[in-house]
Amino acid sequence: MKLSLVVPCYNEAENVAPFQAAVISAFEGCGYDYEIVFINDGSKDATLHNLKKIHSEQKCPVKVISFSRNFGKEAGLFAGLQYASGEYISLIDADLQQRPEIVRDMVKILDEQPQYDVVAAYQDRRREGKVLSFFKKSFYSIINKLSDVTLQSDASDFRTFRRSVRDSILSLTEYHRFSKGIFAWVGYDTYFIPYTACERASGTTKWNFWKLTEYAIEGIIGYSTAPLRLATVLGTVTGIAAIFYLIWVVAEKLFRGIAVPGYATIIVLILLLGSIQLFCIGIIGEYVGRTFEQSKDRPVYIAKEVLTYEET
Ligand code: UDP
Ligand code: MG
Repeated sequence: MKLSLVVPCYNEAENVAPFQAAVISAFEGCGYDYEIVFINDGSKDATLHNLKKIHSEQKCPVKVISFSRNFGKEAGLFAGLQYASGEYISLIDADLQQRPEIVRDMVKILDEQPQYDVVAAYQDRRREGKVLSFFKKSFYSIINKLSDVTLQSDASDFRTFRRSVRDSILSLTEYHRFSKGIFAWVGYDTYFIPYTACERASGTTKWNFWKLTEYAIEGIIGYSTAPLRLATVLGTVTGIAAIFYLIWVVAEKLFRGIAVPGYATIIVLILLLGSIQLFCIGIIGEYVGRTFEQSKDRPVYIAKEVLTYEET
């Protein structure tokens, strides 16, 4: 098997059949074998039903892994990589925003340029609001300053890589999976190609502002311990300020005889220090929570059903 297309699907009932048709037409006459690994990520619509139909027809080799509930796209990709048997593996969405023709180009690049292990697509013309793009830019500049790995700002999950890269990604068994970070962490030489995302064929995006914020926090906490240091820094700064203030208050009393007029200052300081402390405990809590979840050593996903085919 030359190529495996790993396709996470969550409520993509209307898209899976057109997606397969698009793949078949894109790879017509390519001269190599390919398979599609669909992951049904606990969809609530007819996605599984349609995937089963596609599997029974086997117009091209198809595997279907169906989760017991929604575990998220990252878990879907992890499962797909485990079941992919291709020499090259490609991650692509089911909604036809990413054209299968581009995968064919990616395969060509890997074939012709052995020095590259990954071909990643980045969006050259994004159709998104100024606010969102400002937040995205800020996120990348923060995370790249804080962590040891460098995340590529426009690169998507849409990429094709060699089997060695797949093995490396699978060797990271962390529960909180943040694929942009994982791709950057495993390294390898990456070739970037531009692409323009098409409109979603059907259905709606699963992202909203809060999900993106959560995703950003996930990335920062997962790939940097710098926020933990913030507590030390804040503690030191407020400590030094307190000492200066103490000296000033004592001097005022000694030389000018003014008794400390306290009420407002005390309230403000209590509130300020209290909030700094809670903020820092919150940050520590984020890390402790993740350590807790990882220490339970739960699987990344539970597959309820796995449909494969006879591999030759
Ligand atoms: N997806 C998934 N599980 C989820 C959310 C999304 O498997 O919990 C899949 C979805 O079906 C699609 C891909 O991940 O194939 C990308 O999702 P979406 O199109 O919503 O994201 P966008 O393209 O807007 O970034
Ligand atoms: Mg999409």
